Amino acid sequence: MTSPPTAHTPMMQQYLRIKAEFPQMLLLYRMGDFYELFYDDARRAAELLDITLTARGASAGAPIPMAGVPYHAIEGYLARLVRLGESVAICEQVGDPATSKGPVERKVVRIITPGTVTDEALLEERRDNLICALSAEQQHYGLAVLDLGSGRFTVQELNGEEALQAELARLAPTEILLDERLPDGLPLPRASLRRSPPWQFEPDTAQRLLCQQFGTRDLSGFGCSGLPLAIGAAGALLQYVQDTQRSALPHLRGLRVEQYHEAVLLDAATRRNLELERNLGGDHRHTLAGVLDRCATAMGSRRLRRWLNRPLRDHLRLRARQQAIATLLEQALFGPLREQLRGIGDIERILSRIALRSARPRDLVQLRTALGRLPALQALLREQDSPLLQQCLEEIGDHPATWQTLQHALIEEPPVLIRDGGVIAEGYDAELDELRAIRENAAQFLLALEARERERSGIATLKVSYNRVHGYYIEVSRAHSDKVPEDYQRRQTLKGAERYITPELKTFEDKALSAAERALAREKALYEALLDTLGEQLGPLQLCAAALARLDVLNTLAERADALDLRQPELVDEPGLQILAGRHLVVEQAMDSPFVANDLNLDDGQRMLVITGPNMGGKSTYMRQIALIALLAHIGSFVPAESARIGPLDRIFTRIGASDDLATGRSTFMVEMTETANILHHASPQSLVLMDEIGRGTSTFDGLSLAWACAWQLATVQRAFTLFATHYFELTGLPELLPGVVNVHLDAVEHGEQIVFMHRVKDGPASQSYGLQVAQLAGVPREVIQRAREKLATLEQHSAAEADASGSPQLGLFEQASAPTIPHQLEQALQELDPDNLSPREALQQLYRLKALL
Ligand code: ADP
Repeated sequence: MTSPPTAHTPMMQQYLRIKAEFPQMLLLYRMGDFYELFYDDARRAAELLDITLTARGASAGAPIPMAGVPYHAIEGYLARLVRLGESVAICEQVGDPATSKGPVERKVVRIITPGTVTDEALLEERRDNLICALSAEQQHYGLAVLDLGSGRFTVQELNGEEALQAELARLAPTEILLDERLPDGLPLPRASLRRSPPWQFEPDTAQRLLCQQFGTRDLSGFGCSGLPLAIGAAGALLQYVQDTQRSALPHLRGLRVEQYHEAVLLDAATRRNLELERNLGGDHRHTLAGVLDRCATAMGSRRLRRWLNRPLRDHLRLRARQQAIATLLEQALFGPLREQLRGIGDIERILSRIALRSARPRDLVQLRTALGRLPALQALLREQDSPLLQQCLEEIGDHPATWQTLQHALIEEPPVLIRDGGVIAEGYDAELDELRAIRENAAQFLLALEARERERSGIATLKVSYNRVHGYYIEVSRAHSDKVPEDYQRRQTLKGAERYITPELKTFEDKALSAAERALAREKALYEALLDTLGEQLGPLQLCAAALARLDVLNTLAERADALDLRQPELVDEPGLQILAGRHLVVEQAMDSPFVANDLNLDDGQRMLVITGPNMGGKSTYMRQIALIALLAHIGSFVPAESARIGPLDRIFTRIGASDDLATGRSTFMVEMTETANILHHASPQSLVLMDEIGRGTSTFDGLSLAWACAWQLATVQRAFTLFATHYFELTGLPELLPGVVNVHLDAVEHGEQIVFMHRVKDGPASQSYGLQVAQLAGVPREVIQRAREKLATLEQHSAAEADASGSPQLGLFEQASAPTIPHQLEQALQELDPDNLSPREALQQLYRLKALL
């Protein structure tokens, strides 16, 4: 495309002019029944959509690469493009081809970007679709987040990359706007990235734009004074959304400031490891959300997921939720309430479409149904003894006038689009009724006319009909054509018949056709006016939708508590976690056999469990179930345990499993160490830390030393509540050296050559590793197992002999527990580790030092 634009055909000149405005998007250019893409857009679309890349004639002396999709299939293609993170500008023919000189006038009428779609067909029903904007000053970040589908607009400021990464992992936005000045290499999640010029992030400009949007003098009412970076980001975000939506955004009514430390923090790895919404395999089965989400509405599901991703620290708020759930359970309200909620639908997104004026007739019908259900729903909640339920009741509110308007205005089951009319009900508007009457009386009139003309002409077979090309006509068979009256004018000659028009029929035709046209125009105007009327109620209706979504979540948690035998945990101020007969909800649901419940006791005097036991014994399950119980308690839910006492928590960390992070080219060990370093930097005495098999990714000596050092550090410096599962038997010696550390193990028994896992947590260290038995269970051939047994026997002999000779413990394969003694030098070196500055590189250096000592 190096040739000057004037060298192109007029149509390509028009195309290139429009395309220049949307350099970062695919431009779909309407030509007749197709949307066409040209040049690089065509190449990209051909690849993404698997459509044929062709060439169209030539412009500026070269063939134009072109790809196209039929206009009627556009929504399907759009959905695919948006899912692939593409943004699309749709350019329609807006001029009249008949009267245009040169190419028809065209205009971009719709812009779709992954983070700003609101069309029902392009969105995942039960997942938030978010767009973020990010600005920064050194290590300080301003983050604005918008859910255009609900109008939720939040801001926050964050310190450090770790916090930023954790928040972005939580939010999982589909699109991110970046201040152009931001350095490359920020830890951003997979999303569609867009860079915006710095001036858009300028706090003063941003503040002005935001105040204009919210109709306020300043932003102090939203509590965001003193957050210039966040305001800048919010301004840039608003500007972008205004530009792409090309319409007013009346449903963005304010900003909310989110405080990072209000939540129990989960980093990206923890979120993944706990399998909240996705399992480690990447799909949605066997996840916490999968087990819990029985919400009656999609907006409830989305809110539940938000809760799961952002557990709260404030016990007061959590207790209010618990009380609401308890009330719904005790009064057995959850069943009937669910029935009512089922009919409510996704009014949150519907209201946004009303605000954006893209709501379709069926959206309004759904809103009508929802409002119609409110009285019955509210009757269930009245007098219930829970402040939170009462608050929901109040916020849901009464909307009889809005309901009545909708009831009055819309027919029972309108068509999908307003385009062809037939949406507004009879009796709503006198003018529309009159115009429609003309159309409907036409049939009557035509019958009468036909009878009269038959009589007048004496032709009994004369017929009055209509078709779209010729309009109304009188048809007479050829045999009778000599009998037609004088005033008949021939319109069309067919093989066996003639068609005529009369002045009377012509007059009628004009009136009927114009009535139909006017009726449609009137209907469209009434529909627009209806959107205006609803728009005036947007505030209370949005509040209502949000309260219904919250109610749906509380009700679902009550239903789940009933169905899954969950109990109300006690939230206490003393540090610790005491769980009686706790279970792993997801594993339990996936199993046919009964799940073995296990207890836990962590308190100020007992802060670390060293967990040993065979592979497959249930160590990971046990650790995860504790994290999940703690998390559930912090969303206000009941928990899978006979009883639970849960003290304050600030963070949950997990270092579980080893997976190569191929995307960033980091080895298993590097990932493991990065996550470990993060834990050692940020864990506090109020944190819950899960460490599973740390050190596995490297040699035995390295791994053991590192595991030992980390456990030591967590027990003595961070003093976090820690569950430390390990294969390194040496670690079972820690309790003898450190206060507050105890051994537990998961047991197995041998049955002949077989091994049976008991899945029960018992005091003390495990006595056997059962590695060979597990290998056998896994189907390793018999002869290999046999050879391994022989090798094991010789190793053990060696090891025992050497131990006798040196008096020090050996590493590697352990059959029998032996409390190891740690060389004095090593112990000293471990104590000297500087916890606050343990970068992965330094961790490695330390590691080699420790290794040398060993
Ligand atoms: P480990 O981490 O010790 O290798 P896992 O926690 O992965 O073991 O558990 C292995 C399998 O054992 C699980 O997939 C589950 O099927 C079963 N399991 C674990 N804990 C229990 C339990 N408490 N009750 C019943 N089955 C369990």
